Amino acid sequence: MKEKFLGVDVSNFTYDQLKNNIISDINEKRKSFIVAINPEKILQAQKDRGLLNLLNKATYQIPDGVGILIASRLNGGSIKERVTGIDMLLALCEQASLHDKSIFLYGAKPNVAEEAKDRLIELYPNLRVAGVLDGYVKDQEQIKETINEAKPDILFVALGSPRQEHWIVDHMEELDVSIFQGVGGSFDVLSG
Ligand code: UDP
Repeated sequence: MKEKFLGVDVSNFTYDQLKNNIISDINEKRKSFIVAINPEKILQAQKDRGLLNLLNKATYQIPDGVGILIASRLNGGSIKERVTGIDMLLALCEQASLHDKSIFLYGAKPNVAEEAKDRLIELYPNLRVAGVLDGYVKDQEQIKETINEAKPDILFVALGSPRQEHWIVDHMEELDVSIFQGVGGSFDVLSG
């Protein structure tokens, strides 16, 4: 189910398989961590062993870049579809609204996360947004309490890479959340 590119794992799931897996993960109370892999991250991981190990800790490494599709084809691999971080976020919001699951937006500048929330509700009117928190709050206890009180099924973390991946791995056990996805600048894109 995974292919290696210079030591970095990439999952060969399509959107449809990922969507099904993630809803099952929530229903079966499994914790999952989604990270978007692009050629830049693979190159960065060559110089940073800690980052390589961190990326390989994720449950689903989505192939975010045509470079990965081409490399897979050249290696005789089976990655067929590009899955970008923002499209995955949108697909998960759609699934959440269809299956009555809730989301939480953590990261970006104060108004940005709020505006991203409004945009997502415009796109998916039934979407349950359990909470929003900007990425410049320093108090880790406050962040943990806010998220645990909201109890979202899916937490999107927009702190930039690799900060968001470190944050997810460091906090996933203590948070009452099933699915974690690092989404980089996606809230800025949605709000703009
Ligand atoms: N960010 C944050 N807290 C910080 C540093 C950055 O919330 O301490 C946010 C920033 O406001 C932006 C996102 O992280 O919304 C980073 O976006 P960028 O496009 O740089 O991330 P990339 O997709 O390149 O990882």
